[in-house]
Amino acid sequence: MSQVKIDEVKVVAQIGAGRMGSGIAEVVARSGFQVVLMDISEDALKFSINFIKGSMSRLVAKGKFTEKEVEEALARIKTTTSLQEASSNADLVIEAVPEVMDLKKKLFKDLDEICPERTVFASNTSSLMITDMAAATNRPDRFVGLHFFNPVPIMRGVEVVKGALTSQETIDLAVEFCKKIGKVPIVVNDGPGFFTSRWFAAWAGEAFRLFEAGIAGIKEIDQMAKLCFNMPMGPFELHDMAGIDVQLHVMEYLFQETGDPRYAPPLILKKLVKAGYLGDKKYNPKSKGGFYDYFGIPKE
Ligand code: NAD
Repeated sequence: MSQVKIDEVKVVAQIGAGRMGSGIAEVVARSGFQVVLMDISEDALKFSINFIKGSMSRLVAKGKFTEKEVEEALARIKTTTSLQEASSNADLVIEAVPEVMDLKKKLFKDLDEICPERTVFASNTSSLMITDMAAATNRPDRFVGLHFFNPVPIMRGVEVVKGALTSQETIDLAVEFCKKIGKVPIVVNDGPGFFTSRWFAAWAGEAFRLFEAGIAGIKEIDQMAKLCFNMPMGPFELHDMAGIDVQLHVMEYLFQETGDPRYAPPLILKKLVKAGYLGDKKYNPKSKGGFYDYFGIPKE
């Protein structure tokens, strides 16, 4: 099957304009690609464009970009609620919709019908197996995981996930694409949670359980992560940014796939998500707040 070559990649369809989709669209547009940003929600698209403008104006303030470069990058982003419009001419599709296997499979099945044969599909899933999603399409060889990290404009690493049938040509394209957008690609093999989310869920899960056991409070755990281990953020602050719902989905999936009790979703995650506390409102307008808001802990 013929697939697009890296120098022919001009148009990138970014499906899902939430926390991750916004960051990916920003970085890809800044690197000179045309981006078609698609979401089922008009509000999400509006929020996303404002979020991208805010993020880029901080870079201008820091002297990393000029106003002109920001304007040019913004002009390269088109928004739409139509999947057909977003993807019918795309060379590369990057999916960042919620972490639900059935939703992603349905989306990729539709994309497979809309997109030309050359188009390469990438999923930004945190944990769901690439091989499983690829099986919903007729192009499992042109299907790869591009696992970006939050916040995308800042985090340099991208976990490039090789599904069981991903071709070497597609891996090479993914690696070169990451380099073109200023990221450092790290190739891993497929499996639930790949390397990063599996390792991270075991670490974060332990922090949630130690909080539930009354060993230390939320603020204190975050302080220990920063002051005792020199981490830039503690686990609770990090989930307020990255999404409590996202981590719940990841842990549910890892527990279901591995049966390993280290991944059993802690009650505190389930409770907050059911109550609508999905993380800091700054990053998710649909959320009532994060851990700090729910427990009434002042933020620093
Ligand atoms: P989010 O909830 O912030 O955004 C998801 C967006 O997808 C929403 O705007 C929603 O309206 C849109 N959407 C829902 N169904 C859609 C459809 N059928 N077509 C188009 N758009 C649709 O989620 P997020 O945090 O950006 O996560 C997206 C993906 O990225 C998930 O798979 C998640 O696991 C993964 N991820 C998240 C993080 C993180 O820190 N949040 C990090 C790495 C990877």
